[in-house]
Amino acid sequence: MLSFVLKRRDLKEFDQVVALFSAEKGKIEVLAKGVKKVIAKNSAYLEPFFLIEAEIVEGKEVWHLTKAVPVESFKNIRANLEKSLIAGYICEVLNVILPERAAEKKIFDLVFGFLNYLENTKEANRVLIISFLWKSLCLLGFLPTLKNCVICGEDKETKYFSAFHGGCVCEDCKSKTIETNNMLFFNTQEKQSLKLLITGLWPQIKMSEEDLEKQEKLLFIFCAYHSEKKIPLPSPLLK
Ligand SMILES: [Zn+2]
Repeated sequence: MLSFVLKRRDLKEFDQVVALFSAEKGKIEVLAKGVKKVIAKNSAYLEPFFLIEAEIVEGKEVWHLTKAVPVESFKNIRANLEKSLIAGYICEVLNVILPERAAEKKIFDLVFGFLNYLENTKEANRVLIISFLWKSLCLLGFLPTLKNCVICGEDKETKYFSAFHGGCVCEDCKSKTIETNNMLFFNTQEKQSLKLLITGLWPQIKMSEEDLEKQEKLLFIFCAYHSEKKIPLPSPLLK
């Protein structure tokens, strides 16, 4: 089964539980027995963001990983601190937000495209993470409303973003609504930036530091309201 490795954790002395994101079955947790023994052949490829062909035996409750053959190691990403932090972080987040044993083919393709881009690009910074997360959230069904006001539904000028309501809000609705906590000013340029993060191709995703900070804030507040899972924050080492 073609799978990305998301995470591994120890279980007993020689065993590990490995979280995989497979094309066929979505996120799965498999038991890798004896993986920590020095000669274990599987072990080297069970690091985050390796693409492997995994041989899995499906038990009643526990699924066993019996073999892992590397398909793509993304060696340029591994050789670069910034890039490996980015790829490692997206695996960490996927491990949290993906539902278990539910195929997410579009997100699988998104990860594949993203890692291939990261492998070959010269410029890598955390704007790619923000874009990746927005794209993933949209594919999981959490699409913010940007065209019309999310409260009245009318095609009016919107000056605010409400994470609670899930999109842009017009002046009238802002003054009428009680839930104004975390409602942020949101100008036309910021709206364009958010659209770019959601729909742009990887090489187009660029923005100023100030804009990026605002978009990051927006994303994490939005996540806090709309995903039941707590998304970890990216490494402070990331530029
Ligand atoms: Zn409105």
